[in-house]
This record gives sequence, C-alpha cells and structure tokens, in this order.
Amino acid sequence: MSKFTSPTSRNKVWTRLAAWLGARAEAAGARLFTDDDARALQQGWQIAPIQHGLGRRYRDPRFDLWRACPACHGNGQWQGVPCRSCHATGRIMIAPATAPLRGGEGHGQDPLASAK
Ligand SMILES: [Zn+2]
Repeated sequence: MSKFTSPTSRNKVWTRLAAWLGARAEAAGARLFTDDDARALQQGWQIAPIQHGLGRRYRDPRFDLWRACPACHGNGQWQGVPCRSCHATGRIMIAPATAPLRGGEGHGQDPLASAK
C-alpha cells in the first residue's frame, strides 16, 4: 500500500499535474495561434511561445540586418546636418544584396525549434 501523504508521493502528484496542465496550455495555444503561426511561417518569421504556450512572440529576423549608422552614430544627423550615409534615418542595412525579399534567416527553418 502506498502512502499518499508522503512528500515524495505528493511531489510526484504535483509534478504530474503541472506537466499535464502545461501540455494542455501548450495544446490550447497551438490551436489558438494556428492561423497566426501559419502567417508568420509564410513570412519567415521566428515564433517563440511565451506564457506556457498561451502566448506568442513573433519576430522578423530581417531586423538583424539593421545597424546604427556609423557615420552619425544612429542620430540621423551630424553637427546639425542630415546624415547622407543613412538619409537621416540613423540606421543602415548590412548586406542588402543578400537580404531576402520575403522572410529572413528563419525562412524554411523550424520556427519552434528553440522551444522544443
Ligand atoms: Zn547616418
């Protein structure tokens, strides 16, 4: 006969319950965000489940291509004059020739790989 009140047994129950609830939350999130995840995949965005699977964080990896303009240090102007290097935006795109038109580094990869 097992002891239901032993600490080990209680821990196992809570661990199983937490795992079960986590799996239910993850499944609910997958159903809830099916359409949004599909759109994100089409765009090549990265998808990070948050809040135990009940939320999502989407990110376009093409943002990695932008850097602060070295000529104006990201200010968009230098000594009161609009920066010519970045057209006064304060940022430049690195490797524009290799930038994909749609999607980014995550395009074609498993977007949930980091969450598994
Ligand atoms: Zn600049």
